[in-house]
Amino acid sequence: MKSGKLGINTICTHVGEVEDKQFKGAVSPLYMSSSYAYEDVDVKRYPRYFNTPNQEALCKKIAMLEKSESALIFGSGMAAVSTTMLAFLHKGDHVVLPQTLYGGTYNFVVEEFHKFGIEYSFTEGFSEAEFSEKIKKNTKVIFVETPSNPLMRITDLEMISKLAKQHGIITMIDNTFASPVNQTPADFGIDIMIHSATKYMGGHSDILAGAVAASEEHIKIIWNLAKNLGGSLSDYTVWLLERSMKTMVLRVKAQNKNAKKLARWLEKHPLVEKVYYPRLKSHPDHELAKRQMSGYTGMLSFEINESLNVGDFLKALKMIKPSMSLAGVESTILSPAKTSHALLSAEERKRQNISDGLLRFSVGIEEVEDIISDLEGAFQKVSKMEKI
Ligand SMILES: *Cc1c(COP(=O)(O)O)cnc(C)c1O
Repeated sequence: MKSGKLGINTICTHVGEVEDKQFKGAVSPLYMSSSYAYEDVDVKRYPRYFNTPNQEALCKKIAMLEKSESALIFGSGMAAVSTTMLAFLHKGDHVVLPQTLYGGTYNFVVEEFHKFGIEYSFTEGFSEAEFSEKIKKNTKVIFVETPSNPLMRITDLEMISKLAKQHGIITMIDNTFASPVNQTPADFGIDIMIHSATKYMGGHSDILAGAVAASEEHIKIIWNLAKNLGGSLSDYTVWLLERSMKTMVLRVKAQNKNAKKLARWLEKHPLVEKVYYPRLKSHPDHELAKRQMSGYTGMLSFEINESLNVGDFLKALKMIKPSMSLAGVESTILSPAKTSHALLSAEERKRQNISDGLLRFSVGIEEVEDIISDLEGAFQKVSKMEKI
């Protein structure tokens, strides 16, 4: 199916299918071939050229969801991030990024860029002044990630795209946390959208994948490097990702709804100090989020009272799984101080407002009453333990 006028659920269900001409099955057949004919063909196909039937078909779905001309799918979110950045940043170029980035992206920048002679500057916060003052003559790219992890701060995409255009700079966003269901950055003039498809696109905590959506011209530049770096996705996983994405809107909307109810419940809880969720009026970026997002995501963070032991609290949960990663259909929880931010010093964590009692929550599709009752059970159990 083509047409730019389709609703988002229709795009997820139908766009980018491989038509089963032989048997007329209802879903895409899976072409596992790593070897294709080279004579009398229009395209020389090979999985590492990102052009097998299943790869090409799924890219159409992702491109349309991100309101872009074209897309590529990768073996991981980091393959998408690293290939895309290196495709546009050459020796002597400079990139501006916020310091608050997904850990893998941050490590890629600080551990690898010096080997390529690429310069970078981190902004402390997310304001126009902070991005603007870091721009130099050789700045080629501004890279943002919004909402941010774990405090869910929002970067103004319209501001970023205007600022970049004034200076002829390319803009990239890691749109993983929002997913295309809650945010389409192309609406604000952002050039390149990157996803860890391991998260909301995959949505079941069982596949690793990445994606990039952009104009045909930009995708061509990324592809030229991608085929040399070799970070393509196996067709079996492409097929699973296509299947997962059919229900992405249903999942994400259910997660948005649960997150809203959960955030409101947590905000009133006597043992919760603070809740970070952009749907709440108390969030510093609520108005901005309202303007630029169509939903507020299923990710939130909250700080439990310092009298409670975090480890005991997590152990007292019966259904919610303390685990890494995010965006599956099941609710998961983690301590940033013990995981994503463990390598920072205690002072640096304090400066970034990452307290020991902070917990990041990836809201699942369970009944919200069951999520709440699991949390309440844990609160009661640990608060009793503290009194003994
Ligand atoms: C997980 C994640 C990545 C990296 O994706 P992988 O699929 O793990 O390589 C990048 N950005 C964000 C925001 C993520 O959550």
